Amino acid sequence: MQRPVNPRPGVSAEANGGQRIDRWHKSYCPYCGVGCGLLVGLRDDAVVKVEGDPGHPANFGEICAKAVFLPRTIATPDRLLYPQVRPRRDAPPRRVSWDQALRRAAAGFRDAVARHGPDAVAFYGSGQLSTEDYYVFNKLAKGFLGTNNFDTNSRLCMASAVAGYHSSLGSDGPPASYADLDVAECFLLIGTNTAECHPIVFRRIEKRKRASPDRVTVIVVDPRRTETADLADLHLALRPGTDIALINAMLHVIVREGLCDRAFIDRHTSGWQALASVVDRYTPGVAEEVSGVPAPLIERAARAFATSRGSLILWSMGVNQSALGVPKNNALINLALATGQIGRPGAGPFSLTGQPNAMGGREVGGLSHLLPGYRSVLRPEERAEVAALWGVAADHLSPKPGYPALELFEALAEGKVKAAWILCTNPMASMPEPDLVEKGLRQAELVVVQDAYHPTETTAYADILLPAAQWPEKEGVMTNSERRITHMPKVVDPPGEALPDWEIGVRLARALGFAAAFPYRSAADVFEEFARSTAGRFNDCSGVTYARLQQGPIQWPCPATDHAGTERLYADGRFQTEDGRARFIPVEHRGPAEPTDEEFPLTLTTGRLKNQWHTMTKTGKVESLLKSCREPFLEMHPREAAGLGVRDGDFVEVTSRRGKAIAQARVTEEIVRGTCFMPFHWGRAAGYYKAANNLTLRARDPISRQPELKACAVRVRRLEDFPWPE
Ligand code: SF4
Repeated sequence: MQRPVNPRPGVSAEANGGQRIDRWHKSYCPYCGVGCGLLVGLRDDAVVKVEGDPGHPANFGEICAKAVFLPRTIATPDRLLYPQVRPRRDAPPRRVSWDQALRRAAAGFRDAVARHGPDAVAFYGSGQLSTEDYYVFNKLAKGFLGTNNFDTNSRLCMASAVAGYHSSLGSDGPPASYADLDVAECFLLIGTNTAECHPIVFRRIEKRKRASPDRVTVIVVDPRRTETADLADLHLALRPGTDIALINAMLHVIVREGLCDRAFIDRHTSGWQALASVVDRYTPGVAEEVSGVPAPLIERAARAFATSRGSLILWSMGVNQSALGVPKNNALINLALATGQIGRPGAGPFSLTGQPNAMGGREVGGLSHLLPGYRSVLRPEERAEVAALWGVAADHLSPKPGYPALELFEALAEGKVKAAWILCTNPMASMPEPDLVEKGLRQAELVVVQDAYHPTETTAYADILLPAAQWPEKEGVMTNSERRITHMPKVVDPPGEALPDWEIGVRLARALGFAAAFPYRSAADVFEEFARSTAGRFNDCSGVTYARLQQGPIQWPCPATDHAGTERLYADGRFQTEDGRARFIPVEHRGPAEPTDEEFPLTLTTGRLKNQWHTMTKTGKVESLLKSCREPFLEMHPREAAGLGVRDGDFVEVTSRRGKAIAQARVTEEIVRGTCFMPFHWGRAAGYYKAANNLTLRARDPISRQPELKACAVRVRRLEDFPWPE
């Protein structure tokens, strides 16, 4: 177990609200991509207190309520304690030994591969896995089982940003840092309710704005007047799915008024003429018609962005979860490049990752088309490099991308994938169209679910249940939105027979006969191999070691053990493309994949709440967090509500082409007309009709394969009677 950090001098029981703390450990928040450093206080070998780590550069001691209540999510009555196997699908699971469970799982996977080929098996993971967890399962699938069917719920989170950075800048990797928040003079926050979803980043923006209210401009682009929009000088309340028209119009104004950075464009980019001719058509008037945002507001936003000494663009799921997710990312990067707002203090395109280690997943190749070190399964030379590292023949790595998340469940439903292994995620609640996920899991010959909790919506479909250790019961590292890697020590023992996810992967690899390639005895061993795999790559972590991380977090690239890490990418104006120039990619507006019509006249958008996390398997157990919002709600504009006879507080039924949900109406002018909003946290286990994903659709971006969770067509009707139908 990790040695504790020195107890903080002068911290007495009184200073801890009467609680005695025996020792403190430094750690990392397992919730969102802000990646706050934590101090974890233990008494009698149990976690009893969590505070912000004042020395961590992501948060300097601040944390949000979710982290404060982490101690209450550890020793819960629904922890999965022992491996269990269901003798039949309809039978309750029975306790077995680890050997029995893994022998059975390995036999099922081996059998599926023998009968149907390597692509008949698949793994589906999570942005909440540690880098070491990801690495082991990714290596097992892609290097040894011969399938690229390893994808994760990061597909639902950041896949469009990955593809956007790659196509525009030549590589994935957010260019900016949180340090840029402290010096930026213009913030363009688009498709991000930062105040609720990345609260500590938001506090930093708020602090910057309050310190220099006249110098700093905050522009928020969102169909809802969120807590984030309350800070805005300019709130551009656009209709869902009209971002590209609006961004192109900002560029139109910038070109028209001669506000481009011509020197930067000439020296460091390509494709300007093609972009200029496209944005020429997007006048502010055209954009107003499409987006509903008044043309003068678009003009003011464009001027503020182009003329500030440092403009940051921050975005998240509102941009990425779209059938046009990649073009939207390209449009934002076009804006940064045209104004030279990249590679210098306070500037840059800066996607905020949803999950604590979505970035780490990208680094290890935790998507079905990637390999470690930002390599692609499509490039023979990159497959060969990874094959050499893993000690297998180059042709052992498949050149065929595996199934991305949605396709994976479609393939299960169609019987193409026979055996699925789900780690640390709850797709029955988080995916659009849970009926498809259910069909896939029912259709599969073998479903293994590895989780800290049982039951969840997904464990109900497991043939084999494996108990996983969770934060802070295992050691590992995670990377936050600003490329900063933080070490997370094991500070308490996992309950029952739960094991770290990476160790379960190693035991499975050994049960499958690959022991020699999985010799790891610790998370540090796994990390050392991963870090080596990145040497010479853009995300070079080869200078990062556990010993260094135990002294403090490090931002990659970090190519040598005496390298301090890199705060900002592209400071030299050289990009990762073949000619070193960033690419302007012209993109055109297109409405949501499912437009409204007479039958379904409203656009539903979904999102997160400040005090809940994903499918509530952790935060849903904390009474103090539930107090702020116990039930799902539907936000709608008074005009539409009046037309439907809906009053604030009424229960309404929301129907899409795929299903129904029921929620209490919140009638508010803080959402644009024609749009309604429902949080997605509640799954069917909370009440079948509480699930917003009953309504969402499978449309997806053709490149990133990220689903359009932010816009679908619905109708709303007032319910005369309560209670919930079941
Ligand atoms: Fe954790 Fe995110 Fe809150 Fe920071 S902002 S404490 S990382 S949930």
